[in-house]
Amino acid sequence: MRVPSFVTLDQPLASFTTLGLGGPAEFFCQAQSHQELHQACAWAKKVGIPLTVLAGGSNVVIADRGVCGLVLRVTWQGLKTRKDRDSVTLIAEAGTPLENVVALSVAEGWAGLECLSGIPGTVGATPVQNVGAYGQEVGERILWVEALHRERLTFHRFSRNQCGFAYRSSIFRGQSPWIITRVAFTLTPGGPATVRYDELAALFSAKRGTPSLGEVRQAVLALREKKGMVWHEGEAESCTVGSFFKNPVLPPTAFEQLKARVWERAILPHPQVPPHFPAGSGIKVPAAWLLERAGFVKGFCREHVGISRRHALALVHLGGGTATELVAFAAHIQRAVATTFGVVLEPEPVFWGFGPHLPLQGAVSL
Ligand SMILES: Cc1cc2nc3c(=O)[nH]c(=O)nc-3n(C[C@H](O)[C@H](O)[C@H](O)COP(=O)(O)OP(=O)(O)OC[C@H]3O[C@@H](n4cnc5c(N)ncnc54)[C@H](O)[C@@H]3O)c2cc1C
Repeated sequence: MRVPSFVTLDQPLASFTTLGLGGPAEFFCQAQSHQELHQACAWAKKVGIPLTVLAGGSNVVIADRGVCGLVLRVTWQGLKTRKDRDSVTLIAEAGTPLENVVALSVAEGWAGLECLSGIPGTVGATPVQNVGAYGQEVGERILWVEALHRERLTFHRFSRNQCGFAYRSSIFRGQSPWIITRVAFTLTPGGPATVRYDELAALFSAKRGTPSLGEVRQAVLALREKKGMVWHEGEAESCTVGSFFKNPVLPPTAFEQLKARVWERAILPHPQVPPHFPAGSGIKVPAAWLLERAGFVKGFCREHVGISRRHALALVHLGGGTATELVAFAAHIQRAVATTFGVVLEPEPVFWGFGPHLPLQGAVSL
């Protein structure tokens, strides 16, 4: 096989991820434009190798043995805005850090993304798991998503309704053939800040009137900092993918069973119930509460991996560890929570290179 000059061999990937774990890519390239992306996809197709897309590396767990085929890193950036009468359209290229987009929108007084302050990663990855925090999800503000089909090598524009946005999910998650090239957000100039999330609302309860976008952004950043949910390069507890498990959304009957189990095992005295929130036709239970009540408290660790001292849902790589260790630790937690509560926690990040032997139930494994 003739390897083009833009492709490198056996490229270590750990330093491209926030966990700092994982082996090399068999073939690797960085695409700095749509044209370079097209060229790399065309080559992978011609030589018949799998292609995996890496962006900011803040939501992937890479196996120690690495990844077969071509890993393509999305690095092209750019922002454009278009002002209409009642809205602003902000078009961001896939490799643009989400944080740049949020900071700009808040500084300009365009409402809609302020609660997403401080989330690491790139714009192109946000539709994949419908990134959300503190009462907002990107899917609410996405106007369209442009993507390249890696096999057909053609571009397509998806409207919001075609993206299948749901809680930490969309049509782009998992085995999707689409590589997102740019995303358009629709924002509201002069619009009010979103203060839906209880913790955020409590902070502003004593304040008269609606807080400004800037105040909400600062409050979110402070809350995230307190929970270790802002990524700081080189900081030990920053080696994480954020929340490792999704908050389970239970059908009402399953929630009744959970309550019964909690009383039966004297985890809570009757009639106290686990914390919960309405979520569509289901009931969302905080995964962090389940973890802590199953015995996995903040700061609990096993050799080189553990749970953040500031957030029960953030598994951390403490240095010198392996992806195998992290996954085994996560699987241990998943099993213990299932045994205690009868609830299987679904992992949030995407797993690469583990093959069929990944010991985690419900994981997206590529
Ligand atoms: C400290 C910390 C806090 C976090 N807090 C939150 C939070 O509050 N809410 C939240 O939702 N997430 C959170 N996350 C997870 C993560 O930041 C988001 O999922 C983010 O969108 C991932 O972006 P990325 O560029 O790093 O993507 P990567 O990790 O590189 O990729 C993630 C997935 O998206 C795919 N992908 C990436 N770019 C593209 C593209 N252009 N086209 C197609 N597929 C693509 C990849 O193949 C992979 O499957 C947090 C992570 C950390 C480390």
